Amino acid sequence: MPSVLLNSFPEWPEKVARFYVRIYNRCTLSIANRRLPIRIHRRFVVRLRISLFVTVALFAFMGLSRPISQTVPAVSARDARAPGDQQLDLLILHGQLVDGSGKKPRTADVGIRGDRIVFVGDARKAHLDAARTIDATGLVVAPGFIDPHTHTLGDLSDSNRKSNLAYLTQGVTTVVTGNDGSSAANIGETLRKWDAQGIGSNAILLAGHGTIRGRVLGPNDVQPTTAQLEEMKRLMAQAMDDGAFGISTGLYYAPGSYAKTEEVIELSKVAAAKGGVYDTHMRSEGASENGLLTSIKETIRIGREAKIPLHISHIKALGRDSWGQSTQAIKLIKKAQSEGIEIRACQYPYTASGTSLQASLIPRWAEAGGRNELLKRIDDPNVRPRLLAEMTENLRGRGGAESMLIIDARDRTLVGKRLSTLAAEINKPPVEVALEVIKQGGAGIASFNMNEQDVRRFMKQKWVTTCSDGSSGHPRKYGTFTKKLREYVYNQRLIDLPFAVRNSSALTAEMFRIPERGLIREGYYADVIVFDEKTVSDRATYEQPEVFSVGMKYVIVNGKLAVDNGANTGVLAGRALRKKIQ
Ligand SMILES: [Zn+2]
Repeated sequence: MPSVLLNSFPEWPEKVARFYVRIYNRCTLSIANRRLPIRIHRRFVVRLRISLFVTVALFAFMGLSRPISQTVPAVSARDARAPGDQQLDLLILHGQLVDGSGKKPRTADVGIRGDRIVFVGDARKAHLDAARTIDATGLVVAPGFIDPHTHTLGDLSDSNRKSNLAYLTQGVTTVVTGNDGSSAANIGETLRKWDAQGIGSNAILLAGHGTIRGRVLGPNDVQPTTAQLEEMKRLMAQAMDDGAFGISTGLYYAPGSYAKTEEVIELSKVAAAKGGVYDTHMRSEGASENGLLTSIKETIRIGREAKIPLHISHIKALGRDSWGQSTQAIKLIKKAQSEGIEIRACQYPYTASGTSLQASLIPRWAEAGGRNELLKRIDDPNVRPRLLAEMTENLRGRGGAESMLIIDARDRTLVGKRLSTLAAEINKPPVEVALEVIKQGGAGIASFNMNEQDVRRFMKQKWVTTCSDGSSGHPRKYGTFTKKLREYVYNQRLIDLPFAVRNSSALTAEMFRIPERGLIREGYYADVIVFDEKTVSDRATYEQPEVFSVGMKYVIVNGKLAVDNGANTGVLAGRALRKKIQ
């Protein structure tokens, strides 16, 4: 009997329960032993029942009685049986939940304990409470965004920038870095450094093909010997064992550009064998014979032969000559998907790319051997005419000198000027001016080379994730995710909110094999954002690229508030994530 009674009211304060058990016990014993006259027995039992009823009603009224409800999930039910343990750390109440799955929004509460989501549902019905509650009435609750292409390697390692605020304020709780074939030389060391110093968001590293190639072959336009290829494969395996999530290539950039497809396939096989993925800045995104479409075909071949999941970074049709090719690009990718190739892409919602003056104009052959060799070629009267001719063609393909805005340079007087303006100021052809700037240390540019129609066409694909490719001086670093919401979900209504959230979280987690993140689901890590759809927006512009986004009211990383009521808490709750190799 006593145990039945105790189990019937698992949420009663223990003392109260035990008290009633004792009374009940004594009463039944007395009746059984007939130690009391039968009339008194009956009166006693009636009174006991009344007092029990009143007490239960009282506790129910005060919200202290918490019988196990059918609606409480397994995690909570188990915990509810452990008095003193049942309180959550954080409860987000009454929000519009967009859970990352692509399903339409619903009103639901989200409970967090430690670093995990432990409850999704109706907290009142489940009689849950928490040390801290957030009233999300009228706000959207979503999984923290995941950015599969960033240049945050330096930021996260820098004591002043490790909080990664540019991303947290966009709702990004996990960043991938080491893209474009360029990564940390030592993956394990970088991850350990982040563990030790703390980082504001979660971070994932890719192993850069260009970095590995550079270590073995230098900056040279050469092909590896068998032994050199084996050494590159060994370095790739080491990077994966150290925690990289896959291989990245930058076949557009030197020295990755010097690699033949077969070399990339060989290294990708090593990553694939350890569960890694393939992320690429393709050989070309433009219109030439070996442009966007040829590069997509090369990527598909790599996926097919290395048996590795593919992710095309910042997919675009670059340059006026290629505008409209998004249609054919999408067809190619869909066809590959129908043949069983796992291929996806990411995109930033801007019509200007961000790169360097050098990378955008100088042909790769002129960079072979490194910077000193380039400088020699620039000044070599036998080479310079060919160099200028090819640069002129590259500039034309990108939209001319007017389309290039200098956004970063050692000489700060250049920043904010178009290449055309600089050329006019000193009355020289734009490519001559560009060579001068490159000789003096180079410059970062925003290159306005995309067509809005292509951007929109790619964005609507269910396999296109959101990535910033954030770099200094380009607003995409501070505004990609919030601009996508403001402009394409709310203003233009090109895509709906569940689609945008899914392609900024769960889809990316699935693509990059990031376990237990990207969804609002019980048992998943508590990377959660709460934003106001009336105000959420980017603020960064080409003129003022380093302005934080607005509207992210709460950003929770591994269960801790990194942004609380719109303000950064300074908490470094991010983790250096490592690929777990089975
Ligand atoms: Zn890139």
